[in-house]
Amino acid sequence: MTSVPVLEAKNLTRRFGGVVAVNDVSLRVGRSEIVGLIGPNGSGKSTMVNLITGELPADGGRLIFDGADISSQPSYRRARLGMARSFQMLRLFLSLSVEENLLLAHHIRMKSSMFDTIIARRSAVEEENSVRKRARELLAWFDLEEFADNPVSALSIGQQRMVELARGLISEPKLFVLDEPAAGLSPPNVDRLITLIHRMRDEFGMSILLVEHDMRVVRDLCDHVVVLDSGVMIAKGIPEMVVKDPVVVEAYIGS
Ligand code: ADP
Ligand code: MG
Repeated sequence: MTSVPVLEAKNLTRRFGGVVAVNDVSLRVGRSEIVGLIGPNGSGKSTMVNLITGELPADGGRLIFDGADISSQPSYRRARLGMARSFQMLRLFLSLSVEENLLLAHHIRMKSSMFDTIIARRSAVEEENSVRKRARELLAWFDLEEFADNPVSALSIGQQRMVELARGLISEPKLFVLDEPAAGLSPPNVDRLITLIHRMRDEFGMSILLVEHDMRVVRDLCDHVVVLDSGVMIAKGIPEMVVKDPVVVEAYIGS
């Protein structure tokens, strides 16, 4: 398959004072591909994610999303173009219901301009109905339907992680960037998560960039892996090879 990749990060660099948190790193995520971004603590994974989603400006490099240069686009535009992310520290509204969290995420992400709203008022109502329908479908998909009207605070951490994923999917992103989605999950819930991420790719054709510490998750899910250490890419390839690479083993042991 030689179609245009969903994401191409070219030579991204970001400094914090004297620290080069991300140093000339390139990666690509093909259509319906799951790419892992791994590395010891402080290796630059979160900074890389923030450069890709636009939460942080880069000091150098370019980002091509779905064939278009988005290097100078702010994060809300990248979201509107079809990029979603989940956070390691969940960012849900605890006192709002599960369904409200999904609807709100969609509205924030897709917020149209005033002009769009005026010329498309009727379609705004249709849009609202279809988003509600989609929210219910997604909640069913994640086995959360019965909790739709409950406040998020009433759910377990495992369920809240599922809400976080459903929230990212509500706007049908082309690329879903997952920041340590297995963090804090019990082993059976990690198994469920792996199944669900597989299904996201297989049923929605989604492309995924996965930051993950749990090597089982990486091995089970990722087509390719990029390994960072001290901001530099030290290895890339299929998970089975990368985890055996002495340079990678050394980086993990030395950390
Ligand atoms: P990882 O996610 O792989 O643990 P980070 O991207 O969070 O790594 O951090 C990479 C490096 O950049 C670390 O040395 C960290 O201390 C530094 N860093 C990250 N964010 C900031 C920031 N906002 N200000 C200063 N230094 C930062
Ligand atoms: Mg991090």
